[in-house]
Amino acid sequence: LKSMLQRPDLLCDAAFLGGAWEQADSGKTFDVTNPAHGDVIATLPDLSRAEVARAINAAQKAQKPWAAKTGKERAQILRKWYDLMMAHQEDLAIIMTAEQGKPLAESRGEIAYGASYVEWFGEEAKRIYGETIPGHQADKRLSVIKQPIGVAAGITPWNFPNAMIARKVAPALAVGCAFVVRPSELTPLSALAMAKLAEEAGVPAGLFSVITSTAASDVGKEFCENPTVRKLTFTGSTQVGRILLKQAADQVMKCSMELGGNAPFIVFDDADLDAAVDGAITCKFRNNGQTCVCANRIYVQAGVYDAFAEKLKVAVEKLTVGDGLNEGTTLGPLIAPAAVDKVQDHLNDALQKGGQILTGGKPHALGGQFFEPTVVTHATQDMKVSTEETFGPFAPLFKFADEDDVIAKANDTIFGLASYIYAKDISRVTKVAEALEYGIVGVNTGIISTEVAPFGGVKQSGLGREGSSHGVEDYLELKYICMSI
Ligand code: ADP
Repeated sequence: LKSMLQRPDLLCDAAFLGGAWEQADSGKTFDVTNPAHGDVIATLPDLSRAEVARAINAAQKAQKPWAAKTGKERAQILRKWYDLMMAHQEDLAIIMTAEQGKPLAESRGEIAYGASYVEWFGEEAKRIYGETIPGHQADKRLSVIKQPIGVAAGITPWNFPNAMIARKVAPALAVGCAFVVRPSELTPLSALAMAKLAEEAGVPAGLFSVITSTAASDVGKEFCENPTVRKLTFTGSTQVGRILLKQAADQVMKCSMELGGNAPFIVFDDADLDAAVDGAITCKFRNNGQTCVCANRIYVQAGVYDAFAEKLKVAVEKLTVGDGLNEGTTLGPLIAPAAVDKVQDHLNDALQKGGQILTGGKPHALGGQFFEPTVVTHATQDMKVSTEETFGPFAPLFKFADEDDVIAKANDTIFGLASYIYAKDISRVTKVAEALEYGIVGVNTGIISTEVAPFGGVKQSGLGREGSSHGVEDYLELKYICMSI
């Protein structure tokens, strides 16, 4: 892998702790493997709770002088970091594909997407405006200022090893917080490469640390129990989100949660079917179905059901499964054997309940963690895929009658992250977009992510928003100053 990189030192073999590159005190290590072949690509220190506490202490020391800088000074460092990420986009993408499996083209896209948050929030650093409020008494002058919350801690998943960190660390640093992150142990290399470039960009020592550890729950406990940490930000499953929220309650810690989804993708009979198929392909099969905004349930109106299914089958059969590092691959391996089992389980369940395979339907001939992109018709609300997030290349097609029918079905879930509608009738689009209980609605598009818009869910999909001008709020506290003159 090193030989493929222009900057081999971006493939790190140490944790970034309080501004230093360190091994574990215990000497323990763990391997990072490539999900395409299972080969070991790096060995990293397996840190324990005491080292997490050290990183938090260092963050506390670095935070005050960082917050005392002007927004412009912080912005300049973030801008340098953004420039370095883009200058090394190809290396960062290769490292990502090697540890995560997604096709190289998608990794390049993710690096640009992650970097865009660093750029955006760097710009926002200069615009943390407060307000003045007309006094309630003649001698009173009221103002509200926004201040950084202090030390923030983040826990991130393996599906977007760069962007899920960038969305958190960028607003945190922009407003004057320090940030300690524990990336998934499956994909820590992208996080470390980001840290290396942050160091080069001039991010002060200790302000940003990356904890490499297999002891996820220990690290989570330290984040929640250490009184220096005032903010926890998590992206991952709803199940783990609930655990962390409970743990954080003892310290009344401010939390943001980007949790699971079960996105409905709704195709009405007046939709442009070719556009809907294109959208469904990107939305369902991007990152091999392993995103929290991936279409999990595809609802198609009865009149166009067969036509849509046929077109989708043709498009799915054009996808190329393989090693993400190979040119031309559009679908990489799943992240782990358990992920393959989950897809198989959802598929078996669907078939038992009347689903019929239109294409795919089994592990791929390449073996390992590769699975055929699969479409199943005759899907119903009682199938597992309707209530759980599949996180794999399995597209179930549901039939619906009318707007009210599909709104009820789409909202029949504990989740509320992303949803998608394909239709042309403007009143229908308006009615359905307003009725969907989701934080995000894509209309005639399968791609909704951008740093300029607020990303986040309702119901059990989460708390808070990442990106856009709202994205800084999770890292700020309001202070109301009441002055008598
Ligand atoms: P996913 O299905 O995306 O892996 P998880 O919620 O299982 O979602 O994992 C998201 C992140 O949370 C990963 O980095 C994982 O290691 C971490 N994690 C899992 N369990 C815990 C826990 N009890 N406390 C803290 N972090 C955890």
